[in-house]
Formats: sequence, C-alpha cells, structure tokens
Amino acid sequence: MAERRMLIAGNWKMNGLASQIAEAEAVADTWRAPKSEVLICPPATLVGALASALGGSAVAVGGQDCHAEPSGAHTGDISAQMLKDSGARFCLTGHSERRTDHGESDADVQAKSHAAQAAGLIAVICIGETLDEREGEKTLDVIRAQLAGSVPDTATAANTVIAYEPVWAIGTGLVPTIAQISEAHDFMRAELVARFGAQANDMRLLYGGSVKPANAAEIFAVENVDGALVGGASLKAADFNGIIAAA
Ligand code: PGA
Repeated sequence: MAERRMLIAGNWKMNGLASQIAEAEAVADTWRAPKSEVLICPPATLVGALASALGGSAVAVGGQDCHAEPSGAHTGDISAQMLKDSGARFCLTGHSERRTDHGESDADVQAKSHAAQAAGLIAVICIGETLDEREGEKTLDVIRAQLAGSVPDTATAANTVIAYEPVWAIGTGLVPTIAQISEAHDFMRAELVARFGAQANDMRLLYGGSVKPANAAEIFAVENVDGALVGGASLKAADFNGIIAAA
C-alpha cells in the first residue's frame, strides 16, 4: 500500500494583515514535529513575511494562485517563480473562487499548475462540482473532466496534490456524507492511476469544504483522503490546530 503523508493545508483567502502572522506562529509553536505536513497559504502580501516568520519551523508556506508565465507585462499578477523566491513551497491552483471570480478554465488551471511545477513548487490543484451538478448526478463526470483538463501531463506524486472541494461545501457548513467523499476520492485515485500509472497511488488527495475540528477525524479516516484544504477554520490557530491534531 502506498505511503502518503497527510497534508493539512490552510487557505486564508483574502484575509490577513501583518497581525495575522501571530496565528501562523501559534500553529508552528504547537507543531514542532507534526505527523502530518502542515501548510499555510496566506494572501500574496504575506507570503514573504510568513516564510520568514516560519522559516526553520515545520509549517510550509504557499501561494493561492500564480500566473502561467514566469514574468512579463501582466500588471497585478504574480508568477510561480516570485512565490518560490519569496519562500513559498506550494501553490494552490484552480480554486473554485478563482474559477468563478476570474473565469479560470481548466486550460488556465493546467497552465498555472505546470508553471508552479516548473518553478519548483508543489501545485495543489483544486476541483469540485457545483450543487446543480451534484443534484444532476454529474459529480463523477465533472471530476473526470476537471482532472483531465486541469492536471498537466507533468504531474507526479512529488510535484502535485489534488484537492477535491465540492463548491457547495465551501464556506457553507455543508459537508458531503462520508460515503460521498469516499466515492469521489476512490474515483479520483482510479482516474489518476489510469492516466499516470502506479505512481499516482502516492499522489495526495485532499478533501476541502467546511472542514472543522469536529468533523476532521471522520473525514481523515476515509481511505483515499490524504489531508484537507481548510478555509475558514485555518484563520484561528486553535481551530487549525484542532484539525491538524485529528490527522
Ligand atoms: P472552507 O473553505 O473550509 O471555509 O469551507 C475551503 C476552501 O475554500 O479551501
């Protein structure tokens, strides 16, 4: 059986001023040698400061998005190389809020994921169905299409993590049943193994969407769940530590 180290990732989204760094430090102080890998993705303005504050700790820092190109005339954008240069080790790509707010397509997400990998970052590629798609029994079709379209051919277990985040579960307090999470994650594993071979057994598959300290343990017990991507509950060290403790 594959050995996959759990990854507990926090996504601060558009939250966090310099005062928020103390919350990240409280996580790092609590986990000097965590069983799981721990990651915090602050807004771009805090990537460098957080990487400095957490340097030498067990908590990694990631970006929330990157441009597909390494540099150039793209006002307001940030490249994967810049994130890496600021001390990031990971980068989220294709979060549903990027897909919705910025019209990012699967092809865009694939290009960004490839750019992150090429810069030496681990791409955390996000996919997931809407409520309409879930109710229309399209969930597995959506997962198949988003994996095919968003994950570049260059993906390996070392440079890629997949985050399954049902759009209807993000920030809503709604969570799929354990059976639904299990079905989605087993399906992703099978799709990835079919495309990338046995090495995809080592690729980590995170669940995201209203993960809290109270529901984390049962989600982490699902066989093909290798951690979580946590939004709201990553902003307070006490909550995020509770989730890390459950892994
Ligand atoms: P949530 O967000 O934990 O607040 O539901 C998850 C995410 O968007 O990554």
